[in-house]
Amino acid sequence: MTKKQFKAESKRLLEMMINSIYTQKEIFLRELISNASDAIDKMYYKALTDDSIDFNQSDYYIKVKADKDSRTLTIVDTGIGMTKDELETNLGTIAKSGSLAFKKENEIKDGHDIIGQFGVGFYSAFMVADAVTVTSRAVGSEEAYKWESDGAEGYTIEQAEKATFGTEIVITVKENTEDENYDEYLEEYRLKAIIKKYSDFIRYPIKMDVIQKNLKEGSDNEWDEFTEEQTINSMVPIWRKNKNELTEEDYENFYQEKHYGFDKPLKHIHISVDGAVRYNAILYIPESIPFDYYSKEFEKGLELYSNGVLIMDKCSDLLPDHFSFVKGMVDSEDLSLNISREILQHDRQLKLIAKNIKSKIKSQLVSLLKEERDKYEKFYKSFGRQLKYGVYTDFSSKDDLQDLLMFYSSKEKKMVTLAEYVSRMPEDQKYIYYAAGESQERIEKLPQLELVTDKGYEVLYFTEDVDEFAIRMIPSYKEKEFKSVSSGDLGIESEDHSDSAKTDENEHKELFDSMKQLLSGKVKDVRVSKRLKTHPVCLSTDGEVSIEMEKILQSMPDNQNIKADKILEINLNHDVFQSLKHAFESDQEKLRLYTNLLYNQALLIEGLPIQDPVEFTNDVCKIMV
Ligand code: ADP
Ligand code: MG
Repeated sequence: MTKKQFKAESKRLLEMMINSIYTQKEIFLRELISNASDAIDKMYYKALTDDSIDFNQSDYYIKVKADKDSRTLTIVDTGIGMTKDELETNLGTIAKSGSLAFKKENEIKDGHDIIGQFGVGFYSAFMVADAVTVTSRAVGSEEAYKWESDGAEGYTIEQAEKATFGTEIVITVKENTEDENYDEYLEEYRLKAIIKKYSDFIRYPIKMDVIQKNLKEGSDNEWDEFTEEQTINSMVPIWRKNKNELTEEDYENFYQEKHYGFDKPLKHIHISVDGAVRYNAILYIPESIPFDYYSKEFEKGLELYSNGVLIMDKCSDLLPDHFSFVKGMVDSEDLSLNISREILQHDRQLKLIAKNIKSKIKSQLVSLLKEERDKYEKFYKSFGRQLKYGVYTDFSSKDDLQDLLMFYSSKEKKMVTLAEYVSRMPEDQKYIYYAAGESQERIEKLPQLELVTDKGYEVLYFTEDVDEFAIRMIPSYKEKEFKSVSSGDLGIESEDHSDSAKTDENEHKELFDSMKQLLSGKVKDVRVSKRLKTHPVCLSTDGEVSIEMEKILQSMPDNQNIKADKILEINLNHDVFQSLKHAFESDQEKLRLYTNLLYNQALLIEGLPIQDPVEFTNDVCKIMV
């Protein structure tokens, strides 16, 4: 049996390829510039073995020219060029990569810069072009050839004139359509932006003739226009440089140039890994919060480069959510790309890099905390919330993050870490105590604090929404459990001299029962307080939901009316208690009045709304009269 070759409808194949593999038309310029860069690289390799070629870096460049009148865009390179045969095979065969073949023939291993590998990038020009002309003269050859195609109807090759080695590609840019603007590919500012975006680190200069203006002599509003040849790309991938050669300023300039932020970065992280996966990265911890950081619009991610060419400007898989504030770039030659040079979603290499980056960021933050406390606190002020959010939403990251948390301390009057707190705990202290409230000032006045602070224990202030939710995810830190000062049982020895409290409660059982009845539906229980010293009442909670959590849950748009199990605690040593007792014995209406007042006071202290403020003020008036 004879084996037959597959036939392909090349016209359709080309059309499909051109219009379905790329998500953005602008990348055609990236592809053509990458090819030009490859062509110059090949010259460089050839010069290594061929003495007749003298590779003088300054002779090698790429030039981009736009002409609005003829609607043409021209890309010139001084690279190795193509012979007639090469034009035929490389540009006449879809998926034939001369560059891949070159790498194989010359046994160029990884670690070199030749970008091409799929043999399709060139055709992306047809996304924006009605016709493409390639005039090329191979190095060492006297003849030049012109390859011409309109994309659909095949191509022609004919002899041509070309004075120098290299390739010139002329694209006739399509006319604008209703939903597509092609004119922009003839605009200087747009071309510059595309070059900067994707090809900034191509190692050869990418030049353009740029129109400049000078004030006319002796005038303050008339301008002289002139053109000047400028190099658009910065060429030097600083991430490939040795860390010792780079100054703080270099990193700051890179941060600004790449528009990672308008601020100065707080800290940079330069990573070069040469192991199971090879990559370089420059990451930054910004100093201030980007204006949209805590909004839905914010997109996390790092720039991803393959061999110095940008393939994705926000690769979100590279950063865990809790480090979403990190900016910067990653460059790796080990990524598996698909033919549109987009990264494969489930690339194993990418996962490895992400994992590695995560631990580097973590260890940098740990050392920032250790060595540059001021900076860390500044960082924490901006992004601490995000770390806590990470603890709350991502169970697997809590071990990573708990050492990075900080809270305001009642004792130190400043931010402290959990490790610092635990190291200071007196021996008889069982728990890590915290108090939640809207602000520091408000927490300081909470009656519930009295017993804990009287014992000399430190209390952490939780003033952000997420604090208590996050801490619930960390059952214990260094074997110490967390305890809210408002929780039913504080675990403090002295409160257990409270056999007396039990007797008190029994003694006044009927009073407490009727108060409980009066407040039915509002509190779960009325109890003798073991923690109050000077205040008459407070609220505490039983169970999972605290009062602060209730407030937050109630304020959410999809609130499911989750409530804390509230306990009204009464201080038996307060004079008010005598009045209560008296009312209970003689005047039920008065007892109702006092009970409601005390309950509402407790709500106010907690920053909770009073259900019926008018009734409350009327009640107060009744007492005054
Ligand atoms: P790839 O770059 O992935 O190989 P392309 O479709 O972009 O695929 O290009 C196909 C081939 O055409 C390249 O491999 C190269 O051999 C050749 N080629 C394209 N542009 C040039 C150029 N400017 N100079 C020399 N050769 C080129
Ligand atoms: Mg290419």
